Amino acid sequence: MSGIKTGLFDTHVHLDCAPLKQNVEQEVRHARQVGVENFLVPGVRRSDWPSLLALVEGLPGALAAPGLHPLAADQWGAGAAAELALCLQHSRIAAVGEVGLDGLLEAPGVDVQERAFRAQLRLAVAADLPVLIHCRRSIGRLLSILREEGAQRVGGIFHSFSGSSESARAAIELGFAIGFGGPLTFPDARRAPEVLRALPAEWIVLETDAPDLTPHPFRGQVNRPAYLGLIAERVAGLRGWTLQETARITTANARRVLRLKESGVRSQESE
Ligand SMILES: [Zn+2]
Repeated sequence: MSGIKTGLFDTHVHLDCAPLKQNVEQEVRHARQVGVENFLVPGVRRSDWPSLLALVEGLPGALAAPGLHPLAADQWGAGAAAELALCLQHSRIAAVGEVGLDGLLEAPGVDVQERAFRAQLRLAVAADLPVLIHCRRSIGRLLSILREEGAQRVGGIFHSFSGSSESARAAIELGFAIGFGGPLTFPDARRAPEVLRALPAEWIVLETDAPDLTPHPFRGQVNRPAYLGLIAERVAGLRGWTLQETARITTANARRVLRLKESGVRSQESE
């Protein structure tokens, strides 16, 4: 390997959520020590959006993806739409997220989730921004909605992908990279390692989803951005890549789907 060192890109990390937000500078410093250079921070609730934007402004290498998570889909309405459209004009925005369908939630109901999802996809397409997808037990319906709303024009990332290789390929055909995180590292993981091995290299990206989905051997504790190194090691082992190749490939993939420029990347502005 050449001496060129590429940093890791965490494509899904809730730095603005407790307990990470109380120590965010220290968490980010620890992550940098293991080679993580970029952080994409998704939105969850409408009330988070102002602090989400403020957080990424103050953190070199951090970008935001504001939006309503399916669990907060009942917050969608004219007011939220206007506020989100405004947020999307911010210079440190890389995507709309995290949006989608969650079949494991008791509430809000499917119709409410779908209405918010479709409306946010339309905003993303109108703003020409990629989308961060959250999907549990809804893959068939969700892929149809992506097609119906023309989401292949913007693409994005399927976060914490838990589906089959066939579903992953269908997502890739629509221009979506597949995000791998903590569940890949669990000793009893079966499907995620299989899917990871089966996919084309150029559609694989890394994520922690911290503070959730903690990788082995820290499962059961709070997930931290520095644990992206454990996920990168697991991906390297499963694909037969060196750690440096893993960083180079997955970071290039993240930059491509998020359409970040090679130099003068938005995320480096304040460095
Ligand atoms: Zn998330």
